[in-house]
Amino acid sequence: MSVLEKMSSTEIMALENKYGAHNYHPLPVVLSRGEGVFVWDVEGKKYFDFLSAYSAVNQGHCHPKIVNAMINQAQTLTLTSRAFYNDQLGPYEQYLTNYFGFDKVLPMNTGAEAVETALKLCRKWAYEVKGIQEQEALIVVCDGNFHGRTTTIISFSNDENARKNFGPYTAGFVKIPYNDVEALQTVLANNANIAGFLVEPIQGEAGVFTPDDSYMMNVKNLCNQYNVLFIADEIQTGIARTGSLLAVCGDCTCEKHCEKQETYATPDILILGKALSGGAYPVSAVLANNAIMNVIKPGQHGSTFGGNPIAAAVAKAALEVVEEEYLAQNARFLGNLFRSKLNEYIKTSSIATLVRGRGLLNAIVINDTEESDTAWNICVALKDNGLLAKPTHGNIIRFAPPLVMTESQLLECIAIICNTLKQFEK
Ligand SMILES: *Cc1c(COP(=O)(O)O)cnc(C)c1O
Repeated sequence: MSVLEKMSSTEIMALENKYGAHNYHPLPVVLSRGEGVFVWDVEGKKYFDFLSAYSAVNQGHCHPKIVNAMINQAQTLTLTSRAFYNDQLGPYEQYLTNYFGFDKVLPMNTGAEAVETALKLCRKWAYEVKGIQEQEALIVVCDGNFHGRTTTIISFSNDENARKNFGPYTAGFVKIPYNDVEALQTVLANNANIAGFLVEPIQGEAGVFTPDDSYMMNVKNLCNQYNVLFIADEIQTGIARTGSLLAVCGDCTCEKHCEKQETYATPDILILGKALSGGAYPVSAVLANNAIMNVIKPGQHGSTFGGNPIAAAVAKAALEVVEEEYLAQNARFLGNLFRSKLNEYIKTSSIATLVRGRGLLNAIVINDTEESDTAWNICVALKDNGLLAKPTHGNIIRFAPPLVMTESQLLECIAIICNTLKQFEK
């Protein structure tokens, strides 16, 4: 037996603390195994995972189909670079574009890289197709956005923690309030240099801010009207998380692109990541039709690992799971149950004031300030009671379990959550 296998949680946390950069503040739990909706710590305690790695593990931990695809491909061919073709990428690209209803995909690895790709694609389209003068293109974004951590992306964040002392910042972005159609209309009407509007259909990191049902459709129509690209960041909301294949699909529960989706708010550029691989591997994608994607020519953008054979095989399997196991429908059904039960609890609660979300992307608001540690303490108590969740923005707790959860498991989890909240009632 190696030394590592005998280490306690405390010892392992001490190692991270000493040898790792302190760019995260994790809950004090050290996980060593996962299966479906469960994870286990190194001492063997079992937990319900209510974060799902920020919605990357929608298909559940270590899904056998995804793991098998990964093992088979890892034993066959892992990386060729795009200097050569590989036999997995083309079939995956065909599958993925059909799945989401776009002409083409540009494969990347992480979410932030895919957002960067979308921004570059949008700017190039603006100069070469729309005819904006070079260096003048603007992209509209929303207050409270989260799109990743690169220097360009944090340039248009409102989160001081994410921004401060990382300047000089990238120019060319305009911020408007979220869920504000009039603000979008005003900015588009008053500036001919706008190339695109980058938006999350639900703001996950900001605290699961869920806009009006009509917001996405209004955004799409306004963007069309002003010849501005509607860029949807569905890295967190996509792949069945919100009870439809994409959050922009609205009421449609089809697990795959369908005719009906034509009537929903189809973006010009769709950004995917996280659950695109079921959490097994970093896989992201930018989808668009030919009129946009064809502005990118050889040598103008790329990534050594983007579109590698393991990523292609894993992502294809991960999407098959979403369809085969009706994860969008399950997320919709369980999400409605979750919010109705939590709403019942909240009626008589002084500690929780609100539950909001769509599908299985939900959050509760804790009755305390953003600076207080109440939400953190509740998450520590939830952990002790066998359920892992994490505060976002101080007083908000996000609840986003894997979508393979059953109804009886969810009811058990709701009981854990309500009993834990009770410990904190005044
Ligand atoms: C997680 C996330 C990203 C960034 O993805 P990374 O893989 O962490 O770079 C971008 N946008 C949204 C909406 C996200 O939730």
